[in-house]
Formats: sequence, structure tokens, C-alpha cells
Amino acid sequence: MSLYRDEGVVLRTQKLGEADRIVTILAKRTGKIRAVAKGVRRTTSRFGARLEPFTHVDLQLHTGRTLDMVTQAETIRPYGEALTADYPRYTAGSAMLETADRLTHGEKEPALRQFLLLVGGLRTLAERGHEARLVLDAYFLRSLAVAGYAPALDACAKCRAPAIRAFAIVAGGVVCGACKPAGSAVPAAETIGLMTALLRGDWATADASETRHRSECSGLVAAYLQWHLEHGIRSLRHVERELRERTTTVPASIGSDTAAHPP
Ligand SMILES: [Zn+2]
Repeated sequence: MSLYRDEGVVLRTQKLGEADRIVTILAKRTGKIRAVAKGVRRTTSRFGARLEPFTHVDLQLHTGRTLDMVTQAETIRPYGEALTADYPRYTAGSAMLETADRLTHGEKEPALRQFLLLVGGLRTLAERGHEARLVLDAYFLRSLAVAGYAPALDACAKCRAPAIRAFAIVAGGVVCGACKPAGSAVPAAETIGLMTALLRGDWATADASETRHRSECSGLVAAYLQWHLEHGIRSLRHVERELRERTTTVPASIGSDTAAHPP
């Protein structure tokens, strides 16, 4: 057995036996790690709450034959504390953790850019400077881009023509009139502008956007993300329910694009 150190964000935990947990961590240098935390569910655990989801921790681990073992954990930033008190921010953060888990496939395959995006996204959420759903959509767009699924936003995804007519999930972004598949969403130009701003980190433009364009953007980004992940992101359902409670202007044509996706 060999010892190694890394820092990472706890993505999820599962019970193991009477008092232990398997902790899934997205670590800065190592990539995704699944490790056993012994005795973590006892009230006297030396780990305390340091191995709960959302926590950015500094870790020491032992390499094991199947699973590694956490031997030390020190909190760097407990993002969970800032998020649990605010339900929209908590659900947005949960969707980030789940997306980071889904977009990093193998264990111990370095995913530094995904790690940095996740830490940046959680920090931005916790700082409360921007609306939670905007922070989440920015995170979705950028993590998809890092994974190689950036949507085309400035020219037709199929023929690169500059005249944009619609947004087609199956085509990979905006499309021209000639390439537009049946049932494509036809979002407002401002909605595509908002997606571009979120992808680039242009917060001045994003914060100034109107609610209806934010709603349309969220609907498109969620459908686009789900298409690429093949299955729905569980936490997203909670976010979408909140969104529905606040607004009713989700583009009607999204459903047809999503339904075109094979099960
Ligand atoms: Zn085209």
C-alpha cells in the first residue's frame, strides 16, 4: 500500500457496513476517486463532517487493491454550509456535483479542468453574486464544452452559415434555415446571446438578461445537457420544478427535440 495526497470535492457518499462510507471525490490531480472512509458515520469520527458532499477537502489516502482508503481529511472550503440554507442554491449545487460525476467517466483519469470548473461553480454559487440558475447554466455549458460538447452558437452547427434560424439539440447547437430539422426550438436572439455570455463568463451581459430569456436559456441548456448525458440528471428535476414555479415560458418545441432522442 502506498500513501498519496490530493485535494478534491466530495461528489457523493454511500453507506458501507455499519459505520463506514464509500466517498466519491473529484480530485485535482488524480481525477475521480472512490475511497473508503472508516468509521465516518460514528459520532466520534475523526473526519467529522469533512467528507460530506460539497466539501472541498485536502486528503491523504492509502492505495488499496480495489478501493483506496481515506486516512486524513482537512477542510479547505465547506461549500455545503453556504448552500444548505438556500434551497435554489442547494439544488443547483447538487446538479453540479451530479454533472461532474457523470462527465468524468473513469476513476483516476485526471480531469483538472472539470475539477476547476466545479470548484469555481460552487464558489460562485456560495458567494451569491449571481442568480443560482445562471450560475448553474454557465457551469453546464462550460463543463459540456470541456467534455467536447460545446454547442455551436455563432454559426450553423451543420454548414457554418452565419444566418441562424433555430436551436437543434441533435445538430449540436444553432442551425440555419436550410439545415433546421423539424421540431427545432426557435429561441429569441437574446437567448442565444445569453448562452454565449454564460459560456464565455460574461457576467455583465448575463446579469442584465431578462427573465424570459433566462427561462428559455435554461430549458435549452437542460435539454442539451440531457441529450449528451443520455439519461436525465436527477437533481435537475428539482431545479426545473422551481423554474416552473417561477415562470411558465419554457419553449414548447424543446419537448419534440428531447423526444427524438433514443431511450
Ligand atoms: Zn446550415
